Amino acid sequence: MDKKPKRRMTKQRKMILEVVKNTTIHPTADWVYEQVKKEIPNISLGTIYRNLNVLKEMGEIIELNYGSEQSRFDGNSVEHYHFKCLECNKVLDIEIEVERDLEDRVEEVIPGRISNHRCDFFGYCNDCKE
Ligand SMILES: [Zn+2]
Ligand SMILES: [Zn+2]
Repeated sequence: MDKKPKRRMTKQRKMILEVVKNTTIHPTADWVYEQVKKEIPNISLGTIYRNLNVLKEMGEIIELNYGSEQSRFDGNSVEHYHFKCLECNKVLDIEIEVERDLEDRVEEVIPGRISNHRCDFFGYCNDCKE
């Protein structure tokens, strides 16, 4: 029997999801908070964090973790690679296909099965590369 609680799409949650989906900047929770606050002035940052986590569990959004920095959130839940600028911290989607061959190659050398992989590229964007 599945004991997992069914996650409802509340009005707040729906708005948070829309904010994340309607941008390509891969926002932080703080940024999402600033946007949602315009519509729901009494919402708390804690509520934003909680809902972002639920949306992540629901598979609606992806959390990108860059070590000590604040997590970034991605409304594009289809697997894809990212490029992050080391200077201005902007995160861009990379429009190439995910390399499934790489998963086969890794499976040959590890004792286990790969279900997916993440790949981040780092460098300097056109605004910062000078
Ligand atoms: Zn940059
Ligand atoms: Zn992305």
